[in-house]
Amino acid sequence: MTCPKCGNEQPDVFSQCQKCRYIFPRQSSNSSTDANSPVSFPVPASKPSLSAFFGALAVLIALSAGLWWLHTPEGLPLPEDPYTNEKHHFCISS
Ligand SMILES: [Zn+2]
Repeated sequence: MTCPKCGNEQPDVFSQCQKCRYIFPRQSSNSSTDANSPVSFPVPASKPSLSAFFGALAVLIALSAGLWWLHTPEGLPLPEDPYTNEKHHFCISS
């Protein structure tokens, strides 16, 4: 590397001029790859959020189906003399 200040020739391993102590500006070869990584983040982030939404929806449906199954008296015999409300489709035993 040649010092831009005094023109001293020296190996690239030095980040500072060995003659005039001029600090070389850092080579921005790695910064280009770092700048691209945040841009690619929103693209894969949209897919997990959508699948998480449908996953939560499936869990909600399964939970409501389980609750409906628990509250449905299927298989239970009807009482002897039930009060049946034909209009609203519900019956209670007195
Ligand atoms: Zn120098």
